Amino acid sequence: MNKYDYLVVGAGLFGCTFAHEATKAGKKVLVVEKRPYIGGDCYTEEREGIHVHMHGPHIFHCSQKYLWDYINQFATFNNFQLRVKANYKNKLYSFPINLSTMHEVWGVTTPAEGLKKISETTIPCENPKNFEEYAISQIGTDMYQMFIYGYTKKVWNKEPSLLPSSIIKRLPYKSYHCGRHYPDTDIYEGVPIGGYTQIFEKMLEKSDVVFNTDFFNHKDFLETLAAKVVYTGSLDQYFNYKYGKLEFRSLRYQIERHDGDYQGHAQINYTDEDVPWVRIIEHKHFEFKAHLPYTYISKEYPARYDGSNLPYYPINDEVNNALHKKYLQEAQSLPNLIVGGRLGEYRYQDMDVVLASALHTVQQELSNKI
Ligand code: UDP
Repeated sequence: MNKYDYLVVGAGLFGCTFAHEATKAGKKVLVVEKRPYIGGDCYTEEREGIHVHMHGPHIFHCSQKYLWDYINQFATFNNFQLRVKANYKNKLYSFPINLSTMHEVWGVTTPAEGLKKISETTIPCENPKNFEEYAISQIGTDMYQMFIYGYTKKVWNKEPSLLPSSIIKRLPYKSYHCGRHYPDTDIYEGVPIGGYTQIFEKMLEKSDVVFNTDFFNHKDFLETLAAKVVYTGSLDQYFNYKYGKLEFRSLRYQIERHDGDYQGHAQINYTDEDVPWVRIIEHKHFEFKAHLPYTYISKEYPARYDGSNLPYYPINDEVNNALHKKYLQEAQSLPNLIVGGRLGEYRYQDMDVVLASALHTVQQELSNKI
């Protein structure tokens, strides 16, 4: 007889949410995690009272109250709202593009003037087939050259004309003054006071957790321990790459301590192709701790994913999506395998989307008797 009902592979947001709900319903869960810590890419580490987002900035934002209430069970959130600045050729601009940006670039002061300026350089496209066609049809060539082209080329190492438009659709464009990074529909937003890691610790309180354990080094043994496997890694690896490898892009984070206040803002993007990093994150500003006499920053450098670093961004072009679909169909034919998370689903997802997917999956699972 199996010792556990579920073996959860990966202690990120999907895996931890699944484990929390399953244990709450009386199931026995074992979580195996390759890294020495939980939380996946949401993991934060405390340094002198500042919670450093070790794998890039995570701001929880959503439009749906049930998701906000759910995550707030595990931590108290502050009312931080992400307002990015873009640094282009050493000048700072409000970003994503809104009327303040248009004022800074062109001096316009009303939405009508801004829209007129944008429309002078847009190239209308009824059915945009790629990132570049879509972006230029929305924001025009001037804004595209200043804020999008260089940044995107650095992050993805591809010409934007070879990328899917879904990537740029993540960024809102506003014809009024609004420096908020996320869409207006996301009425809930914040960062947990005390960092993200506490959330995952609470979620896993009733699970058994083993760290530093690569599932694939002990797959046959681990699978005998549980009735079902909840796998949150990349599916190509699960199937030993038999149809080929899924492509990802990675980032390298250079974390530095400095005296004082380094850039006076939580996130500044460097949109010029000639600057080697893509953005600088200053962590204390997520927590309203500008007064501290020291600071921690991360410089994010784009990086090739080579299997030894972390697979951050799925490259959702047609070829990769078709490959993922093939793996997923095979996974879905295995009755004891559940797949989820950003890697398993091979989608560029924000935390609220992963959380919603995990809750949906575990509720469906628990309503089926095992
Ligand atoms: N992007 C850009 N300029 C920026 C910020 C973003 O061109 O200053 C584009 C880029 O292609 C990026 C995408 O918009 O991959 C999504 O950006 P987001 O800020 O959502 O990236 P994340 O925070 O997920 O890394």
